[in-house]
Amino acid sequence: MNHEQIKIPQATAKRLPLYYRFLKNLHASGKQRVSSAELSEAVKVDSATIRRDFSYFGALGKKGYGYNVNYLLSFFRKTLDQDEITEVALVGVGNLGTAFLNYNFMKNNNTKIVMAFDVDEAKVGLKVGGVPVYHLDELEQRLNKHIPVAILTVPAQVAQPITDRLVKQGVKGILNFTPARLNVPEHIRVHHIDLAVELQSLVYFLKHYPAE
Ligand code: ATP
Repeated sequence: MNHEQIKIPQATAKRLPLYYRFLKNLHASGKQRVSSAELSEAVKVDSATIRRDFSYFGALGKKGYGYNVNYLLSFFRKTLDQDEITEVALVGVGNLGTAFLNYNFMKNNNTKIVMAFDVDEAKVGLKVGGVPVYHLDELEQRLNKHIPVAILTVPAQVAQPITDRLVKQGVKGILNFTPARLNVPEHIRVHHIDLAVELQSLVYFLKHYPAE
């Protein structure tokens, strides 16, 4: 996700997985280079289109040589990784938490809530919006240092100790829906959304600065 974003046309982007799969096979069989004609035959895309597509990747085929398979593979790996889904954990399956679990974030972006935590035995073990709810005691074991983002929808008074545990598990970004102000190390990003404050502020602005 740290890679420089390279703008490529959508039609080209759609062909990337096709090229990628074929090149992986070529690489596995020990081939170092491939011509656009060979690629064209294999993936059933005309060679002019392939040449144009590849020019977006900065891969310029040489006459009589073709394309360097390793170069193309590393490009595809980087580019396709940007399509990776970011997995998110949610803590606190109350009214707000439940609404988020039921909301399909995947519709608009590549994020997905993959697990939720609560302390309420009535909720632990359930699936809400298809997402499993685990006991908070299992936080460390379940996160296991591979979830980069967490949403906090717990009561304010427990937000800080949960945050500390999330940070220890390598969470880098926290979307905080509790009114608590969280203390985190510098390298952790917290976005704070206090719905009550936002609503109050909207009402205040309406009263004092009505839109024309
Ligand atoms: P909301 O504030 O989302 O509308 P609510 O009013 O239903 O929720 P809250 O009391 O705010 O309930 O709690 C939100 C959720 O957080 C509940 O499901 C509650 O069981 C859970 N919760 C409370 N304490 C903890 C904790 N220490 N760790 C994880 N979850 C907790």
